[in-house]
Amino acid sequence: MATPKDVYTFSDLKKWSSAGKDLDPPAKLAVFGDPVEHSLSPQMHNPALEAAGVGCQYVRLHIKPDELVEALRTLGKAGFIGTNVTIPHKTGVFDEVDDMTEVARRTGVVNTVLVDGDKLLGHNTDAPGLKRAIREEFSVDLTDMRVMILGAGGGAGRAASVQCAMDQCERLVLVNRTVEKAGALAKELHDMTGDSDRLEGPAERLKAIPLDAKELERELDQIDLIINCTNIGMSPVDPELIPQRLIQPHHLVYDMVYSPPRTRLMAAAESSGARAANGLSMLLWQGALAFEFWFNREAPIEAMRKGLLAE
Ligand code: NAP
Repeated sequence: MATPKDVYTFSDLKKWSSAGKDLDPPAKLAVFGDPVEHSLSPQMHNPALEAAGVGCQYVRLHIKPDELVEALRTLGKAGFIGTNVTIPHKTGVFDEVDDMTEVARRTGVVNTVLVDGDKLLGHNTDAPGLKRAIREEFSVDLTDMRVMILGAGGGAGRAASVQCAMDQCERLVLVNRTVEKAGALAKELHDMTGDSDRLEGPAERLKAIPLDAKELERELDQIDLIINCTNIGMSPVDPELIPQRLIQPHHLVYDMVYSPPRTRLMAAAESSGARAANGLSMLLWQGALAFEFWFNREAPIEAMRKGLLAE
């Protein structure tokens, strides 16, 4: 019996019958990325696969962008059930799957693939994973929230915004450094939110603003949940995302960043008397939803959580 390598390559995948032959249980799930060695997905999925008694394991595959299409088409022949995809493949995979779920279509992003005979089915678990994470962290539902998305122009921000719109949240303020991207997304989401009159009060139900302290200040009285979807917070030298004085005790602050576990934004929120949580719960729930997509059964969430926390 062989110990799995930290990372396999596209050449390994092409000759999987020999590259993976000594793995017991066999590897039938993977994460594609470039780079991929940082991915925590094996630490989360392998305990789940073991707990569920599925008889397979999950590995990392280093797939470069020019290898993606062939790698996807090789999965079935190599005996894989499916794959997760991470940076930079999430939009590339969208164009390659044969069919996809509604949430994948609406977000324009696929992060999970299921091999179904000779077809590839795509799903996006980031968006519903965020929804479950918010419920777990704050015991609230997106549908009841007035939400501000920081970084609405990026991939994760788009997924979060689409989920909020699909859930008909009470109010949605899209914030982005490059405001044009938030403006374009607001136009796209308008049809999903436009007809509802759930919001009471004078504020606009869906709007886009730049990442600017004065603009933020005008909106934050009428916001319950602030979600950071930017990269800011990952590095100790990152700037302040929003001034601490603008965060109010009634705010719930969710930071998609989870490394470090207590980000500068979370610290600022807690100093202002607000509740805050990091993105580990979203990572967990997007993984659990991928498991459910592959196996059509409930994920052993506590085994997954334990695996992640051990890291
Ligand atoms: P992305 O597509 O590259 O988007 C980056 C976003 O951050 C854009 O909105 C960008 O604004 C903004 N941004 C970057 N640098 C900035 C700066 N200096 N000042 C202000 N805004 C800045 O990245 P992504 O894939 O969406 O990922 C974003 C973050 O979410 C990452 O930290 C990622 O690890 C995290 N994430 C976490 C989970 C989870 O499970 N917890 C899942 C997905 C993503 P512009 O449009 O103006 O460039």
